[in-house]
Amino acid sequence: MQLYNTLSAKEREALIEEAGKERLTISFYQYAHIKNPELFRNHLFITWNELDVLGRIYVAFEGINAQLSVPAENFEAFKKHLDSISFLENVRLNIAIEQDNKSFLKLKVKVRDKIVADGLDDNLFDVTKKGIHVDAEKFNELIEDPDTVLVDMRNHYESEIGHFKNAITPDVDTFRDSLDIIENDLKDHKEDKKLVMYCTGGIRCEKASAYYKHKGFKQVYQLEGGIIEYTRQVQDKKLENKFMGKNFVFDHRRGERITDDVIANCHQCGKPCDNHVNCANEACHLLFIQCEECATSMDQCCSTACKDIHALPFEEQKALRKGKTVSNKIFKKGRSEVLKYKK
Ligand SMILES: [Zn+2]
Ligand SMILES: [Zn+2]
Repeated sequence: MQLYNTLSAKEREALIEEAGKERLTISFYQYAHIKNPELFRNHLFITWNELDVLGRIYVAFEGINAQLSVPAENFEAFKKHLDSISFLENVRLNIAIEQDNKSFLKLKVKVRDKIVADGLDDNLFDVTKKGIHVDAEKFNELIEDPDTVLVDMRNHYESEIGHFKNAITPDVDTFRDSLDIIENDLKDHKEDKKLVMYCTGGIRCEKASAYYKHKGFKQVYQLEGGIIEYTRQVQDKKLENKFMGKNFVFDHRRGERITDDVIANCHQCGKPCDNHVNCANEACHLLFIQCEECATSMDQCCSTACKDIHALPFEEQKALRKGKTVSNKIFKKGRSEVLKYKK
């Protein structure tokens, strides 16, 4: 029985191109009580692998978080399989606006401690006592209310390229950090203000809203399905779009354009730009915003130091890397002293 990937990303890319079929980029999540995540993981892998589903899926005792690419022609079968699992029946699927056949090139289903690394002790509060879910229409109404405080629950590099008008965008690296900042900022308004939250696909707000209710906030709302679903509804129902810029996404596209507003700037020259890249020096890999001119002059690197390393023969680069950890990948998303224009 095949339980893991056998094709490399390159081989997969070639196969997708050859097939020339339309694929859908889909994400969904569900908090649930999964008794045996390992067994569930294997069941998903076997079924989805047969349906040629690709993507990154996390399974934990607390639920499932999935980002997938599904061949359009297998969508019905995929949906039917989801509906056959009790806690995934009619689960809301976020379908990406810009279609991209190569959003994922492998099927990776991983068992984790949690479906989102949120740094919270879940025994302290009941995650099922969540806030009031609102759709795009209600959300637009709510955020015009003078008693509303609108909070972006994402990290700094996400809100930097796009966010809702008048939203508070905490300058944080982690979800856990923003929880404390917001609580502290609003500690005198737990009852009189409406706390309205949003994130990429809704999953972070699910926990955050339960957390704030546990902390004594009386009016807690969350944008159902996050920015992804909001954008779909706004287009579908011809509502006013109150989002500006790009929605940061965690696949190779980095961002999905929602409006033409460019609210960020190149971290190297300061001109308007909202294009995230990773530093081409493998040992650095820093995520930052770089315009095309800077990409050319800097050889797609974040600094002259990285540019020099990147210019070395591969073997020499490897020798330099030996014994050093690639901590940038995890801890320095978009933060580095070399980035003059990072606000
Ligand atoms: Zn630039
Ligand atoms: Zn670099």
